[in-house]
Amino acid sequence: MHHRSRPTARALGSGAALSLALALTLSVSPALAAPGGPPGPTAEPDPVPGLVAGEGTATPRLVTGLSDPAPGNPAEAARAHLAANPDRYRIDAGQLAELAVERTAEGRDTVRFQQLHGGVPVLGGQYLVRLVRSGAGQRVESVGGKYFTGLTAPTTPAVPAATLRRIALESLTDPRARSGATAEDLGPVVLPGGAGRLAQHFVVRATDPATGSPLVREVYVDAVRGVVALAHDAQGPYRAEGVGTGTGRTAAAAAPAGSTAEPATGTAPDLLGRTVGVNIARQPDASYQLVDLTRPATISTYDGAGRDVREFGGIPADALPVGSPTPDFPAATGTSGATDAHLNAGTVYDFYRDRLGRDGLDGKGSPITSVVNVSNGGAPFPNASWDGRKMVYGNGDAKHRQFAVALDVAGHEMTHGVIQHTADLEYSGQSGAMNEALADYFGNAIEVTARGLAMTDPKAALMGESLCRTGTPEECANRRLDDRRTTVKDYIGAGLDLDNGGVHLNSTIFSGALWDIRRTLDPLTADRLVYRALAEYLTPLDDFVDGRNAVLAAGRALNLDRARLRSVAAAFDAHGIRTGWQSRIDTDSRPLLPGAYAPTGPAAGGGHWVMGDTDPNGKGGFVLYTGSTTNSGTPTRLSPDDDRMHGWAATDGKSAVWLAIGIDATGSWGTEVLTRSLSGGPVRSVFKSSTQSPVDVRISGADIAFVVRDGETDRSSVRLSRDGAPPVEIPMPEGHGVSPFTASSLAFKDGRLGWIESWTAGQTTLQAATVYSIATGRVTAQYPLSTPDGAARPVLSSPAFAGGRLLWLRAAADPASGGDTLRSGALDGSGESELLSAGSPYTPANLAFTATDQAVTFQHRGPRPSGSWSNADLPKLYQLPLTGGAPVRFSCNRGTQFHPAADRGTRVVWLDATTGSDTLVVRNQPAKGC
Ligand SMILES: [Zn+2]
Repeated sequence: MHHRSRPTARALGSGAALSLALALTLSVSPALAAPGGPPGPTAEPDPVPGLVAGEGTATPRLVTGLSDPAPGNPAEAARAHLAANPDRYRIDAGQLAELAVERTAEGRDTVRFQQLHGGVPVLGGQYLVRLVRSGAGQRVESVGGKYFTGLTAPTTPAVPAATLRRIALESLTDPRARSGATAEDLGPVVLPGGAGRLAQHFVVRATDPATGSPLVREVYVDAVRGVVALAHDAQGPYRAEGVGTGTGRTAAAAAPAGSTAEPATGTAPDLLGRTVGVNIARQPDASYQLVDLTRPATISTYDGAGRDVREFGGIPADALPVGSPTPDFPAATGTSGATDAHLNAGTVYDFYRDRLGRDGLDGKGSPITSVVNVSNGGAPFPNASWDGRKMVYGNGDAKHRQFAVALDVAGHEMTHGVIQHTADLEYSGQSGAMNEALADYFGNAIEVTARGLAMTDPKAALMGESLCRTGTPEECANRRLDDRRTTVKDYIGAGLDLDNGGVHLNSTIFSGALWDIRRTLDPLTADRLVYRALAEYLTPLDDFVDGRNAVLAAGRALNLDRARLRSVAAAFDAHGIRTGWQSRIDTDSRPLLPGAYAPTGPAAGGGHWVMGDTDPNGKGGFVLYTGSTTNSGTPTRLSPDDDRMHGWAATDGKSAVWLAIGIDATGSWGTEVLTRSLSGGPVRSVFKSSTQSPVDVRISGADIAFVVRDGETDRSSVRLSRDGAPPVEIPMPEGHGVSPFTASSLAFKDGRLGWIESWTAGQTTLQAATVYSIATGRVTAQYPLSTPDGAARPVLSSPAFAGGRLLWLRAAADPASGGDTLRSGALDGSGESELLSAGSPYTPANLAFTATDQAVTFQHRGPRPSGSWSNADLPKLYQLPLTGGAPVRFSCNRGTQFHPAADRGTRVVWLDATTGSDTLVVRNQPAKGC
């Protein structure tokens, strides 16, 4: 079976993303007797919630104030408690697998369960039972997490394994990245949300063809329908900018230190050349290694010696910990950053053990490994990462020292390891921002504690400030935890393709609240409080408000008095982290379909919109909806009642055409092209195949056109169905096809087809924007697209007909710097012109555009910044008259604006992520200035 270029879930998607992907539409059934203690003596509201209902599930998210005796060992007691209260929890104890028991010296046991569905783990489905030991037995104190009660998804794939793998690889939007890419199969998983979706989880590793940087992607492929359900970068680097280093949590384990080594002490120079004492290991051959055997967790430090970071996915066979013939290590141990990394790892270990009672990153004293002084393919590498197994520190650059030198960076990366072994917060959107926030909180706390800084010291809020070769700490710091950002004023609804949905962009909103708590309470109490929330309350898909509730519930369990609990609540309030914050963000657009999860984007025309979205009946598929762009009436359903994925639609304003992918009524899997009038009537099948992939469906009156990609020949061709007749292929010259370098490549209007044609000449792939007349059966215009170096580049937007011309994007030679041009050509081939030149500050950066006869609207992202990401780097919509002129911002909304679809005149619908969830919105004309 061949399924080349299966439409990917969200090439430019937003990504409020994961929380959206999982958005549930079931109503809450609050059949819960509210437990919790008696009301307090004062009239003030209790800052700690006693009961938080689940959203879209009948199982409560949090129940506190319990005091139920429970017999047996902790796991048995936890299961028995859940089973004894079926009306409260609605949990099938047979679908719980014990993940871990967090056991503390103070007499608490927290049992963390993984939810299964038919034996398959549910992504983010974790439920926790917290017990307090008393005498010979124990009591259940509180319960909570995420358990999804509506799951009915099948647990056996309908799509062959080889096809699922191919779809995962093809989720790389740039076809050049696919050569040499690998997809590691991590097994099946159920994605929650309604009925749930069975998916196969892959880690895709490739090289970014534009930058040469490693790409590591988590890709979930719907195993029943054969589409990408979710894809984002794996655990990211310390800084959002620059190249990634994540090699995934499945990388080979670091080699443990030799068991015959003996602990010893020695000296080594640090990065600044000072001689310091180090714990080392004496080898059987009487040489020494930078291996610290004095703690339960062995700490080993390796020197990457400027080698490429990609060589350290595992520890290479030829690499040993830094060695020395004598206990006094040579100068290179200091200049590589190895000494600092070695000492920092010990400091971080001791903080977690002495202050928080934790034995190392996994809580079990497993080895702790650092690799220092790695490069990006020989080039400077100013970054650091936790790669799922170990810390990797870059060699810095002209501005930055070796990244191994900063204790707060070491604490940050090692805390990612602690998080992986506790709440395992999903690394995207709000949960990912909390992952970053907790890493920053502890990284900062460890450094501030080690240096003896007061929380009132101006430097106490800085992250990474010790990395600079020049400039003040304030100028150098990557982030500061006292930046006072709030959800309502500052939350950046970023797409998943930018910083994994804002994991660094939004982290200081949450870490700022935690840092304020550390300033307000005493630091030790705050550290215990935040750690307890992480280890005993948080679960992978939690959002900011869940995080607030977790910290407050942990505070009650820590016996904080009411005044201190109120100050904790006030810190979250000050950062806008309270229920309903999303609805208080101002926007200048009108919602048409709020809370959508629409990876395929809308189409528009004639005063109507069309878009696929989650099935409200929770079957797990997508329904195709249509509605008016001028009033907010209830959307109506166009697609037939099955559980396929309906989407990737087009409309001419009267009828829609779209793709349905999955198992149809006859029980066979495939992709079907369907059409129906927007006003109702029968659904008609235009094309269906289980071996070929139709994409880019278009409609114009009674005619329908689309592209078929053939995996066997790797060739794409245009098919045309006239007036209900079977589709026929439009002939092209030998060796020519529709460009495989173009994610979407077809336009159709008034009897003319437009496409991006491609062919090879020697080693070079050539492309041309092409106009074809149906009436004459001839190509009437062909405009070359080649970039200055002659090589074909990926273009993410299809051409369009507007104002009697064909419009298309021509990709820049260097995609990283933007500079793509928007061009138009006469239909008879008599000439082309630039609507937006390469010199314009608004040249689209390889993104989408849409047009009417009056205006062109395009998605523009600022050039890659040299400093930190900011809201200005998110894709925004701009509009200009078709006759030319200066582009103006179309909407001043703060977040990612994507999938624009022009209706008529200047009206445009698009997906907007400003409020933290994707919403289909509309405006009639551009904003008057932002
Ligand atoms: Zn991080």
